[in-house]
Amino acid sequence: MDFKKLAQTLIPDKDLLPLEEYERLYPERSLEKGAEVTRLAPSPTGFIHLGNLYSALADERAAHTTGGVFYLRIEDTDLKRKVDGAVESVIRSLDYFGINFDEGAEISSPLNKYGPYYQRARASVYRAFAKDLIARGLAYPCFCTEDELNAVREEQTNEKKITGYYGAYAKCRNLSEAEIYANLKAGKPFVIRLKSQGDPSRKIIFRDAIKGEVTVTENDQDVVILKSDGIPTYHFAHAIDDHFMRTTLVIRGEEWLSSLPIHLELFSVLGFKLPKYGHTCSLMKVDGGVKRKLSKRKDPELSLDYYRKSGYYPKAVVKYLMTILNSNFEEWERKNPQTDYREFKFSISKMGKSGALFDIDKLNDISKEELSKLTAEETYEFLYGWVKEFGTEADGKHFADKEYIISILNLICGIGGKKRRKDIVRAETGVSMLDYFFDDTFSPEYSYRFDGGTVNAVLDKFAAAYDENDDNSVWFTKVKAVAAQTGFAAEMSDYKANPAGYRGSVADVAEILRIAVTGMPNSPDLCTVMKIIGKERTLKRLAAGRV
Ligand code: GLU
Repeated sequence: MDFKKLAQTLIPDKDLLPLEEYERLYPERSLEKGAEVTRLAPSPTGFIHLGNLYSALADERAAHTTGGVFYLRIEDTDLKRKVDGAVESVIRSLDYFGINFDEGAEISSPLNKYGPYYQRARASVYRAFAKDLIARGLAYPCFCTEDELNAVREEQTNEKKITGYYGAYAKCRNLSEAEIYANLKAGKPFVIRLKSQGDPSRKIIFRDAIKGEVTVTENDQDVVILKSDGIPTYHFAHAIDDHFMRTTLVIRGEEWLSSLPIHLELFSVLGFKLPKYGHTCSLMKVDGGVKRKLSKRKDPELSLDYYRKSGYYPKAVVKYLMTILNSNFEEWERKNPQTDYREFKFSISKMGKSGALFDIDKLNDISKEELSKLTAEETYEFLYGWVKEFGTEADGKHFADKEYIISILNLICGIGGKKRRKDIVRAETGVSMLDYFFDDTFSPEYSYRFDGGTVNAVLDKFAAAYDENDDNSVWFTKVKAVAAQTGFAAEMSDYKANPAGYRGSVADVAEILRIAVTGMPNSPDLCTVMKIIGKERTLKRLAAGRV
């Protein structure tokens, strides 16, 4: 068969360059030895998830700890899945977590010399190489219809054979020249398939940068490389793009491991040097005692938007992911609590080989810890940033009074005090913790543990004695006095010695006051809360809290 003629017939495009020209256009990058070039290659579906962030962080760390390059490529060959604004959303979401690209789609950088970074804009390079494979007898047109392929798959399934287009099932592999031209003349649509040279009885031992040694079977599937619309499949585009964008390390999900034999063969027939691969393990969670993969349908925490909307402190999420990426990160962090996580020596080979467990409680702990390192001013800025995007109108009004909010934050976080409190987990809950400091969001549900007469007596007597100039100890002396006047023990020790002799203790009196003033049985130092909200409001609440 005249393969050259066939190649020219199937791909007559005029804009293809000689293959060496592509090598010249996209030369090896001049980077230090050991520098890794990594990429994030999402499809523009608009859904960016924690797995993407996890992978992106590994990519970014691998590149930036070695003096390499991290770029963004958009795999938009499947138009059906394309969502407007998805690319901006990827960039914005990752930027929120402090992960930035050096080059790539929508990144303005002088480094952008390996583009275009949208696969749809790269048609000619794929087609040039597909044409070459056809000309070398290593690829061929396949005219099988969807129905024919389905029938083959059914037959294979019934016979418990491996499904796919291979060996004797690869009908179009052996079409004669006359049959091919007759099909073309009849206007039958076709795809281009790889004419696999592999032998499935042979095994390949492969070193994965994350999983270590893995043994795979040689590929014998005649996979589609160009679809009927002339656009490449993932497999083909991956080989071409990662070669010409000079990727040195491909980090991707372990779901791609099963396609690795195809990629090994493609790199080999294309004559390209194989990059290193690291297949990341899936993020799992324990659900009802059973470990399972995080699912888009069941787990809102899989979506990155969830973290922004709930107001997680971005650095905390990144640090948490670092603990899953490299198990020695936690120990390093304990020894270097003040050091930027970027100083940690990230290592791809220390990544987990199987199912990484995602634990939201641990994330919450890290988030509390990270937020407790902020000054009141920084805490204000972080919370206000969240309020502007996701808060209520009332939150917006409250935060406009910076001085007042800072005084509250100083109290509830114990900022500047001896003991730094770690109450704020994330912005959403942190902002609602401030609600009772404002009349419009103070909506108490009084739940006293004492009868109305007792509650009212406590509230009235304290209100009569309250003076906003009292310091903590005078304030507390007054609470004790109210206790003594209303049948409670003023001293804890007296109450403990004779519980039956009193209605309760001074702690119960303080609780009644606290419920009236804050709406809750627990709050930070009540004397300070009263000072912050002011005398007028305090008295109003003491009166309104009567039963
Ligand atoms: N577009 C592929 C995906 O989103 C990329 C896989 C890869 O990183 O090679 O799964």
